[in-house]
Amino acid sequence: MSIVGAIEAGGTKFVCSVGDDNLTLIDQVSIPTGTPDDTMPAVVDFFKPYLADLKSIGIGSFGPIDIQENSPTYGHFTNTPKVAWQEFDFVGYVKTHLNDIPVAWTTDVNAAAYGEMTQIEGDSLVYFTIGTGLGGGAIQRGQFVGGINHAEMGHILVRKHPEDDYEGYCIFHGDCLEGLACGPAIEGRTGIKGQDLPEDHQVWDFVAYYLAQAAMISDLTLAPSRIVLGGGVMKQEHLIGKIHSEFERLMKDYRPTPPLEDYIVTPALGDNAATIGCLAMAKELTKG
Ligand code: ADP
Ligand code: ZN
Repeated sequence: MSIVGAIEAGGTKFVCSVGDDNLTLIDQVSIPTGTPDDTMPAVVDFFKPYLADLKSIGIGSFGPIDIQENSPTYGHFTNTPKVAWQEFDFVGYVKTHLNDIPVAWTTDVNAAAYGEMTQIEGDSLVYFTIGTGLGGGAIQRGQFVGGINHAEMGHILVRKHPEDDYEGYCIFHGDCLEGLACGPAIEGRTGIKGQDLPEDHQVWDFVAYYLAQAAMISDLTLAPSRIVLGGGVMKQEHLIGKIHSEFERLMKDYRPTPPLEDYIVTPALGDNAATIGCLAMAKELTKG
């Protein structure tokens, strides 16, 4: 049997999985994110029993990370706000401890985009995750969008809602998209976590307005087959409808889009998008 591995490296936990050729999960473990010294030995220990059959591993990681294949620091974290991980050679560590296994390496949100790609006919997709932070990535004609760096669409600038006087939560930009619409920005305005706020609270109108702008920018710049909005904040089921309404209001029939309920959607794979994406990336690598 040939199997593939996945590491979804997040700010609170690392989810490690192995799956078969059909991307069906065989085994999975969740490891709390500590320092590299705490976390990484447990990550490689999870994969060791599978090494005989394990062909490759896909990694989707929090960032920023170096994804330039010809860079001397390819596979490392760069200036991540998680200080213990700055400069850490993630890909190097995995290869060193797991028999130089082939590794596919991208951001967590790109991995989730790759997972959602398995659910559509087209070959271009945009994925935003709205959680503790706000990340955005994209695939265009089957390739991750990016040049000298990976996309960081969570930090785009948006037009401020006229009634929103919140200064914004992003430590770099204040009121960028992340600063205005991530989970802590919702809590920053209200003192209440998003999961505990009533549906009719005005903050949801603000969040819908900003996410609709993100969807509009995605449509206008990348014209993807689908725009997926995931992460904890999107567990608010009323939010997607509000985003559709705002998108229509902002776009003003400029050009046709697919029906919005098929175009701007929550993840078909739910919380598994990044894990399935990592397995799919790993499988792609074994095609040679
Ligand atoms: P992370 O980004 O840390 O991986 P999540 O995607 O779950 O994890 O995001 C956590 C953020 O999402 C928190 O700010 C939390 O308040 C918010 N959140 C989680 N669940 C909900 C919910 N049901 N409704 C609104 N906000 C939520
Ligand atoms: Zn920002």
